[in-house]
Amino acid sequence: MGDISVGMQTPLATTRADLPSLMPFMPHPIQTLKFAVLAGDYIGPEVMAEALRVLKHVAQLENFALDATAADVGGAGIDHHGKALPDSTVKLCEQSDAILFGSVGGPKWEKLPPKEQPERAALLPLRKHFTLFANLRPGLLYRELTDASPLKRERIPDGIDIVCIRELTGGVYFGLPKETKTLPDGDIQAVDTMVYKKSEIERILQVAITTARARKKKLCSVDKANVLETSVLWRKTVTDYCAKHTPDLALTHMYVDNAAMQLARDPNQFDVFVTENMFGDILSDEMAVICGSLGMLSSASLGAGKNSLGLPFGLYEPAGGTAPDIAGQGIANPCAQILSAALMLRYSFGLEKTAQRIEAAVRQAVTSGTRTGDIAFGKPSVGTRAMADAVIANLG
Ligand code: NAD
Repeated sequence: MGDISVGMQTPLATTRADLPSLMPFMPHPIQTLKFAVLAGDYIGPEVMAEALRVLKHVAQLENFALDATAADVGGAGIDHHGKALPDSTVKLCEQSDAILFGSVGGPKWEKLPPKEQPERAALLPLRKHFTLFANLRPGLLYRELTDASPLKRERIPDGIDIVCIRELTGGVYFGLPKETKTLPDGDIQAVDTMVYKKSEIERILQVAITTARARKKKLCSVDKANVLETSVLWRKTVTDYCAKHTPDLALTHMYVDNAAMQLARDPNQFDVFVTENMFGDILSDEMAVICGSLGMLSSASLGAGKNSLGLPFGLYEPAGGTAPDIAGQGIANPCAQILSAALMLRYSFGLEKTAQRIEAAVRQAVTSGTRTGDIAFGKPSVGTRAMADAVIANLG
């Protein structure tokens, strides 16, 4: 798998000594980017290797160093350490400023009890351990790729460019009680509990506001305030907070069922939308479908804590899974992983211009015709490595 050895913690450092001596000097606020590399399973390591190549190139171009260390997670964690999230992996993450994550799971581990399955036993505990409460998912479809979307071209003539912000550590996925029990009459009852505190709503709202301010200053809050108590609190909290702190933003509210329809009807009516955990889970998957291939979609999960640079600690991963159906063939699209690395530079390392540079290189590579099979629409396609080569060629 390219530069990474799965099965041990492996330094992948690009040191200053590796840099060409005649490189033009570019002052940089950060000397070394220290992050954990958790590639995971199936296509995870394949696309991760390419994202790391892109990062190494950009580090050379901009004169900073990478201190990236790989560790097992998911199925690889189960196979090598007996659990999906080995203690050594958690420790490495604690010592890093960010996590670049691939994806975990697949048929090899499907027969394990649900609690031991890679996704549940690795990703959820990671989110909890680092209080990764804010999930940012750009819904981006380039104009040149509108054929990848199931939506009619006339609905998205210029592609799609929206952002979903999902609360990730609260709501019904974590609320207690959460149990299944047999009732005295022999029937069986299962309970999940949806809980939100005002402080949790304000915390995710602040991320949404920052994101909306950097874009079109439009924010839509999605809830189900006509039915759910948590949504009533959600809507009141959002309304009060924005009235007090953000008169510059155009704030709207939408019920989640309507939001699901509007996403399919006219996605670009949204610019940034913010919503609670389960609604965000569902809407962000719908967003992934209308944006064409999962191979193009990145995500960032930002933590409540700060890293050693005083910036948000975060986990950055593609929106898709491990794609076992195409793993091992060298044909997976690495763009989602590369774009996730760009998000890491933006949020956890404060390198906005470098992030934009990578995003522009991906756009340029794809729109000028280099395509993996998932976005080729029957035209000739390239493999994972050649796709990354095209991105690297466009970095300059
Ligand atoms: P998937 O996202 O892996 O694949 C769905 C479809 O999208 C497949 O046809 C696949 O080939 C394609 N696809 C996904 N990423 C691609 C890429 N980079 N390039 C080209 N095509 C790509 O979803 P699935 O098949 O339902 O799940 C497979 C495994 O991944 C399961 O074990 C699931 O639990 C796991 N999963 C993990 C994560 C995660 O780690 N965050 C997320 C979702 C699914």
